[in-house]
Amino acid sequence: MSYTEDTLAGLRRSSPGQDEFFQAVEEILQSLAPLLDSDPRYRRERIIERIVEPERQIIFRVPWVDDEGTIQVNKGYRVQFSSTLGPVKGGLRFHPAVNGGVIKFLGFEQIFKNALTGLPLGGGKGGANFNPKQRSNSEIMRFCQSFMTELYRHVGPTTDVPAGDIGVGVREIGYLFGQYKRLTGRFDGALTGKRFSWGGALGRKEATGYGAVYFAEEMLRARGEGLDGMTCTVSGAGNVAIHTVEKLLEMGATPVAVSDSTGLVHDEGGIDLEVLKQVKEVEREGLESYVRERSEARFVPVSDYPKGGHAIWAIPCDAAFPSATQNELTFLDAKTLVNNGCRCVCEGANMPATPEASKFLGDSRISYGPGKAANAGGVAASQLEMSQNAAMQQWTMEEVDSRLRVIMAKIHTTVSEAAEEFGEPGDLVRGANIAGFRKVADAMIDQGVV
Ligand code: NDP
Repeated sequence: MSYTEDTLAGLRRSSPGQDEFFQAVEEILQSLAPLLDSDPRYRRERIIERIVEPERQIIFRVPWVDDEGTIQVNKGYRVQFSSTLGPVKGGLRFHPAVNGGVIKFLGFEQIFKNALTGLPLGGGKGGANFNPKQRSNSEIMRFCQSFMTELYRHVGPTTDVPAGDIGVGVREIGYLFGQYKRLTGRFDGALTGKRFSWGGALGRKEATGYGAVYFAEEMLRARGEGLDGMTCTVSGAGNVAIHTVEKLLEMGATPVAVSDSTGLVHDEGGIDLEVLKQVKEVEREGLESYVRERSEARFVPVSDYPKGGHAIWAIPCDAAFPSATQNELTFLDAKTLVNNGCRCVCEGANMPATPEASKFLGDSRISYGPGKAANAGGVAASQLEMSQNAAMQQWTMEEVDSRLRVIMAKIHTTVSEAAEEFGEPGDLVRGANIAGFRKVADAMIDQGVV
């Protein structure tokens, strides 16, 4: 058995049932083979064996009382994967499908994503198997307060700084921060994604979506193309998707479709951003409500999706932005996209392509930006929020946005150069994995066996 196969087999035994985590590790290890072959230090120092094991994992009970007076119990997680490059940084996800394997996959990916930003950030992730849908504001507040009643002792501005993710936006960060402040008596930067008026950063909310669009623009520029005039599809209708649509419109592209957990909307004339925001951010409704406002648009419910695929990827486009969740783009979807002329897939979500889809997209030699690089804008802006909190300052939107643009361009250069160095020019999956890993691994060697 090769070193990589051996390590993976060991991991299967030690982390049974953690499929998403295993998938993330397998993808990275396969990419790293040329680096591990070229530099024996990484094996000698047992970097792989160390890096797949989180520094610390906290699993805790989250009891709370719903509006009917019934006691509810959820499971909370915080996985502090790596503090090699800086304080642990990574979001919190509240979704019924959250489990230990999902949080570990997200935390593992976060180590390398954060390394790629060039900023001093470690990697981690957390969350709970809590479903915020159909819950009242008071229920969400009580849940967040209970969650923070355990989490507060593990986080802080120089140790671990959580942010939002699926199901955790500015409302939830507000309730979490309020409870953190009450328990610790400190007003500090222990969370990012806060509202601007009480310590947040302008541009943080927009940063992941905007950053993904900037990254796509960099990929296309390298081929002498641009987003202006392109037809685009964007899966999801949450924070990342909405701001991807917003930036695409600004750059002269036409986003024609978005989706959510109920189905998709196809609006050939271009998604109406105001209607989308009203439906998803204000009314918190399913996308069918969008069509009530825009009768020319078409709603396709999930029940009508093709077997083994997602109908949004069958809509012809020049560029696609998977921005909902993991494994939402299958092999069938990838083939359909490329056959329909798609020239760019840029991942706003974490690991949205299945391994088969990812391989197909890489082999097809279209512009393919992996989430680790393409969606790093969110965490980069979080670090800018941390800097502003530490300096007791607030920057303008223009300042944050221009820094974000520079960071995304630098990430593109870093991953492109690493791909080229290891003989696969244009293979940004390999480039991102190698460049992210090498930065963390070299620092681990400097810091000794810890
Ligand atoms: P949100 O909760 O704001 O939005 C998620 C969207 O995806 C919603 O429209 C939701 O549908 C849809 N969705 C979620 N799960 C499923 C599913 N299983 N099937 C179909 N649709 C689904 O989350 P974000 O926009 O913040 O996150 C989206 C992705 O981007 C995630 O992979 C996240 O890890 C990643 N990401 C987020 C960052 C951030 O800054 N927020 C940073 C980097 C990556 P519905 O509206 O019906 O619930």
